[in-house]
Amino acid sequence: MKTSRRHFLHHVMVVGAGMAPALILSRAARAADEKVSESDPTAKSLGYVEDATRVDKARFPAYAAGQRCGTCSLFQGKSGDAWGGCVLFGAKLVASGGWCSSYTNS
Ligand code: SF4
Repeated sequence: MKTSRRHFLHHVMVVGAGMAPALILSRAARAADEKVSESDPTAKSLGYVEDATRVDKARFPAYAAGQRCGTCSLFQGKSGDAWGGCVLFGAKLVASGGWCSSYTNS
C-alpha cells in the first residue's frame, strides 16, 4: 500500500497533536519541581538558605532560632513536606527547613 503525502502529513499532525498535552504537562511538572537556588538573585537579596541553621545572623539579626520556611505564613507546602511553594518564588520550591528575611508567622 502506497501512503500519500497528504495521508502521511495528516498522520504526523494527529500524532503530534496527541503528544502536545503530554509535553506541556511534563514541562509544567518540571517547572513545579524546580527548587530555588541560593544563588538566585531574589534568593540572595532575601538571604534565602536551604538550611535555616546557616542564616547569616550578622546580616539578619531579626532571625530567631526555630524560624523556618515550614512555619512561615508564606509557605505553600503541606505540613511535613520537605519542599513547598512560597508566595515570593512563584512556581519554584523552597526547603521546609530553609529561611529568608521575609519570614513571617502571623
Ligand atoms: S517567605 Fe517564608 S517560606 Fe518563603 S522563603 Fe522566606 S521564610 Fe521561606
